[in-house]
Amino acid sequence: MHSIRIGQGIDVHAFGPGDHVVLGGVRIAHDRGVVAHSDGDVVIHALCDALLGALALGDIGRHFPPADARWRGADSRQFLRATAALMREAGCRLGNADITVIGEAPKIAAHTAAMRALLAADLDCAQEQISVKATTSERLGFTGRGEGIAAQAVVLLLAAP
Ligand code: MG
Repeated sequence: MHSIRIGQGIDVHAFGPGDHVVLGGVRIAHDRGVVAHSDGDVVIHALCDALLGALALGDIGRHFPPADARWRGADSRQFLRATAALMREAGCRLGNADITVIGEAPKIAAHTAAMRALLAADLDCAQEQISVKATTSERLGFTGRGEGIAAQAVVLLLAAP
């Protein structure tokens, strides 16, 4: 495996009935929930897909199929920890990750520190290696209309020393 590998991931979930969303492992009060088989954490799903992409190991749907009853309502941190194990098995470690949440609401600025702490714990790295930020889509498209929430992630992996 080359000494540097890059990966990117995207995830989207539609809003539905509920009173909170889970983003980066953090439960955030909201006037909608998300429609999902697991907890619908777009931050972790995008991050897992970026890590799997960097490892050329397929995607989150292959490793954690939505049809599998084991993952019903699952805490997506399980997926992240399992993906981190695959990364270690491949002889890699995280260089850095940069994640962008796309949506009008909920606002996440007050929660990004907590998200970074949880993601860093699951990836066994420093919080400084993980960025979580947000943007709106200026009220355009499905995120702008409040129909759902999206996230994008990019990661750089390094060969483990
Ligand atoms: Mg998803």
